[in-house]
This record gives sequence, structure tokens and C-alpha cells, in this order.
Amino acid sequence: MVGSAIIRRLAAENCEVLIAERKDADLLDELQTKRWLAKTRPDVVVLAAAKVGGIGANNALPVDFLCENMRIQLNVIQGSHDAGVNRLLFLGSSCIYPKFAKQPISENELLTGALEPTNEWYAIAKIAGLKMCQAYRQQFGRDYISAMPTNLYGPGDNYHPEHSHVPAALLRRFHEAKLNDAQEVAVWGTGAPLREFLYVDDMADACVFLLKHYSEWEPINIGTGDEVSIGEFAKRVAEAVGYRGKLTFDTTKPDGTPRKLLDSSRLLALGWKPRVTLREGLPKALDDFLGGGGRYRFASCDVAE
Ligand code: GDP
Repeated sequence: MVGSAIIRRLAAENCEVLIAERKDADLLDELQTKRWLAKTRPDVVVLAAAKVGGIGANNALPVDFLCENMRIQLNVIQGSHDAGVNRLLFLGSSCIYPKFAKQPISENELLTGALEPTNEWYAIAKIAGLKMCQAYRQQFGRDYISAMPTNLYGPGDNYHPEHSHVPAALLRRFHEAKLNDAQEVAVWGTGAPLREFLYVDDMADACVFLLKHYSEWEPINIGTGDEVSIGEFAKRVAEAVGYRGKLTFDTTKPDGTPRKLLDSSRLLALGWKPRVTLREGLPKALDDFLGGGGRYRFASCDVAE
């Protein structure tokens, strides 16, 4: 999802884009990854690949989330250094910050408290990745930077029924409910948690902006500054889909972290700002889903991944 958006965005730049697809190099495989990097010798590496998923997937697949992400990061970051790549952008996540971090969450909140248990596997791996960037900067002077995006949505998402993030999950559930004339649809949790949503093409734009303007040791947040409750977000998704039934809340499902609003003032101060509002972005995300984009579009998908 993010990688494709970055490729779309880079089409407007004067550069050659080298894409390591799974068929070119399995990033879980050290040898394949290092060979690909040594052969292509990029000037800049963007590490957008990761094992990702929503609250359900993190709970169900802790080993995958912890170990696959650590392996991808080790192979790509170490392989980039070995291949002489001096500039690298590592993408993390807002879930690296403590569960009860001060809001809005500034970059200084990193490692000041315990993590949210529903996504700590992923968070620990991402913290290790950003620390690798800092370590390569400190020990070898490499210009490796890390960016921490807020919750993303948009084209290329994973529409897996249980493993997706909330935007893709609800787009799919409401669409199916509309087709089946369902009277009501369940939204996970209480609806009270607050989240910030960033359209993936805005995220890609921020990545290119950072590659041009940011070269610091500290990770940098990428968010919009707007937050919405999950209950309100669900209403907006239902509206975008055209589902008019009742929304109920399934409190047997976890809420996750209560609030996760990033303080993106450092990025905004550099001159970047998001363009796509939820009102504009949700219909685009829906178009992608209806057009067969993304992964796990069909109900018959393999739920074990
Ligand atoms: P999080 O930001 O890491 O918690 O990622 P998610 O996107 O998985 O979940 C965000 C919030 O949406 C949580 O409070 C979930 O309980 C809530 N939510 C409501 N319905 C769903 C759903 O169908 N799938 C997911 N993944 N989350 C849902």
C-alpha cells in the first residue's frame, strides 16, 4: 500500500525508481536482499515493506509481526549499508509510542512508558528499526532517517476480514452489509477510541518531502492533526459506502490504545502539509476496493494469510 503510493509519487520526480518486488528479492531472505542491493546499488532506499495488520492480526500473529519485521529491517538496512547506500528512509508507525503517551504525541515520547499490548510485537520491531538507523548514523555516519506515520488508509489496502486495519475492515463490512440488506453491522470495541487517519498518497508525498528536506537522528511524525472517534469514523465510512442500517458496537473486541494523536509540528514547521481530507479520501479508498485493488478483496481469502 505505502510502497505503491511512493512509486506513484516518485513518477513526478526526476529519478529512476528501482522496485524490489517479492519476485526480485524476498526481503525475508538475507542473501536475496543483499544480492539485490549489491546489484542495483541505489542512491536512496525507502523501506516501506513490512508485515502489517490491524488489532486482530497483531493479537493473532505475534511471532510473524515481531520476527518478520525484524528480519526485513535487518536485511534491508544492513544490506543497504553493505552496498554503500548512504541515504535511507525507514517507515515506522505511531504505535511505537507508549499507550498513555502525552497527547498530541511528540517524538520525545519514545520509550517513556509501556506499549499498548495489542500491538507491542509490531511496535518493538519498529523501534528496533529506527534504532538501527540511529546506530548506522552514529557508527558509520550514514544518513538514515525514520518517519512515523499515523493510521493510514487508501488504495492498495489489505481488506482481510479479520486482519485489516479499521478503514479497510469497515469499507468491506459495510459494502457487504449493503449488498445483503443487513439491518445492522458490528463495529469492534466501544467506538470511543480516538484515531487520526492519513490518506496514503499524502503519506507518500511526506516521504518524498522528507527525503529532500530532513536529515536528523530523531524520528519524525507524519500526521494530519485531526482526530475522530471510531464511532464517528464508522458513520463516515457507512456514509461513503451508502450503507443505511444500524451500527452496533461489539465490546468483546479490543479497543486498543485509547488515543493516538501525533504531534506533527516538526514536519509542518518544515513546510509540508496534508491535502486529502477524510471526506475526499474515503470515496477514493472505496473506489479502490470496488475496483478490486488491494489484497484480500474476496470473502474466500485465506484467513491464515
Ligand atoms: P490500531 O490503531 O493499531 O488500534 O489499529 P486498527 O485499525 O486495527 O484499530 C483501530 C480502532 O478501530 C480500534 O479501536 C478497533 O477496535 C476499532 N475497530 C472497529 N472496527 C474494527 C474492525 O473491523 N477492524 C479493526 N482492525 N479495527 C476495528
